[in-house]
Amino acid sequence: MSSKIPEPCPFFIGGEWLRLEMAATPVFNPSTGDVIAECPIGTAAEANAAVEAAQAAFPGWMETPSVERARTLARFKMLLEDNFEDIVRCNTREHGKTLTESRGDVKRGLEVVEFALGVPSLMMGEVLENVARGIDCEAIRQPLGVCAGITPFNFPAMVPLWMYPLAITCGNTFVLKPSEKVPLTAIKIAKLFEQAGLPKGVLNIVHGGREVVDALLTHSKVKAISFVGSTPIAKYIYATGTKHGKRVQCGGGAKNFVLLMPDADVENSTRGVIEAAFGCAGERCMAGSTAIVVGGAERTVLPTLIEAARKIKIGPTDRDPQPDMGAVITGQHRDRVLELIEAGVKEGAKIPADGRGVKVSDAPNGFYVGATILDHVHNGMTVAKQEIFGPVLNVMRMDDLDAAIELANSSPFGNGASIFTCSGKVAREFKHRVNCGMIGVNIGVPASMAWFPFNGWNESFFGDLHMQGKEGVQFFTQQKVTTSRWFSYGEGDIWHK
Ligand code: NAD
Repeated sequence: MSSKIPEPCPFFIGGEWLRLEMAATPVFNPSTGDVIAECPIGTAAEANAAVEAAQAAFPGWMETPSVERARTLARFKMLLEDNFEDIVRCNTREHGKTLTESRGDVKRGLEVVEFALGVPSLMMGEVLENVARGIDCEAIRQPLGVCAGITPFNFPAMVPLWMYPLAITCGNTFVLKPSEKVPLTAIKIAKLFEQAGLPKGVLNIVHGGREVVDALLTHSKVKAISFVGSTPIAKYIYATGTKHGKRVQCGGGAKNFVLLMPDADVENSTRGVIEAAFGCAGERCMAGSTAIVVGGAERTVLPTLIEAARKIKIGPTDRDPQPDMGAVITGQHRDRVLELIEAGVKEGAKIPADGRGVKVSDAPNGFYVGATILDHVHNGMTVAKQEIFGPVLNVMRMDDLDAAIELANSSPFGNGASIFTCSGKVAREFKHRVNCGMIGVNIGVPASMAWFPFNGWNESFFGDLHMQGKEGVQFFTQQKVTTSRWFSYGEGDIWHK
């Protein structure tokens, strides 16, 4: 149950937890609409102080052997596991997703920590003996310095964990600016890293909006920026960060297609699409937000899909029993989703599952939208163009695979696309031709796991190196290539005199 006393939302700078008096934005429990914390709107002063603290900690941390850094991370991993359910409940309380979904959120973040435990091997360099007579060449990887991360509201645990465990274990220091809508999970997790023995200043947390972000983007001591959020802000962060000479990786928004072929297994594809469209109330960058129903699938899978969507139980997630789906993040976001549904209906879409006006009697002030299906959507409609980021599935109909792939490829985004089919040949064709970076075959949410890059393309990613996997290690390190020749005193080259 939510307490009425707002939780503190401190900054973490140079190893000190600081509660500063300043203007703040409310953090809601979306299940009830209660304000559970006030997130301070930090200024450039706090951002600069955090960068200075991170810069001061950098030389000592860089010199700490990579195996010791990995051991600190191993202790952090154990603490994450020991406190797993506590983090999960905090995550659900400030985000609104179900406890099961929060467990997935934290588990996916934990997997990045597991991957980062391999940093001593992952950072290993290359050596080539005798690149010329008596001359050897070696390439080693070194950390960059101070890195910064700016994260969205929709995965309060996972997205920050995409960034700083790997950055820090590679020897960098870090400033995190979590989403002002969900700062509490980020704070809780950072406290565990501190408890694991992380030296002061290696990880810092600042709160706020544009002023704080701009200070990080333009600070001469920040070497790299990782961002995840909507596409317009991703573009801004990428342009501003690169202009100021920083390495930048930015995950943006998305609109992901799920193709339902006539031969798709009805039960499995229904389950897959329902999970893809309505899991986390549709607030996922990998949400399968558009189903392309190909040919006869409109008679097989579509009716079952509509029936399943109508049965989704919505309600508060901060108590038992758990519903199938929770609230969206804020009242403002709920209103935006409802406006988009209205626009879809006005522009001619049918609404066989209608989540407008849903009533949740035991939590009347929560931010609820019921599971909605908009059918007969076409490309010109507002709902086809904008990322809705709510529990709304667009259904579009196509005659064949070619037309469906062409439709999916007309999207400016490029995060994910899935196909449900029993034909290996059709799946192979789809996989080959579809123009995005994460593909699902009979999988509704093909989000890459920690060992692979989180691989958005087009307007879903800006940069050269993605988060997670080996690309993550490359992003957080720079190579140094040394070419060496050794002489005996006074004798010249000892091998070839
Ligand atoms: P958002 O872009 O509104 O905010 C993201 C972060 O940017 C927050 O920390 C916010 O405080 C900050 N921010 C907002 N406006 C800013 C501005 N004008 N200047 C500087 N900083 C600013 O995104 P959100 O609503 O928190 O998250 C949802 C979005 O994130 C969706 O579009 C979703 O698709 C996307 N997302 C993408 C991925 C991915 O990997 N591609 C993963 C998760 C979420």
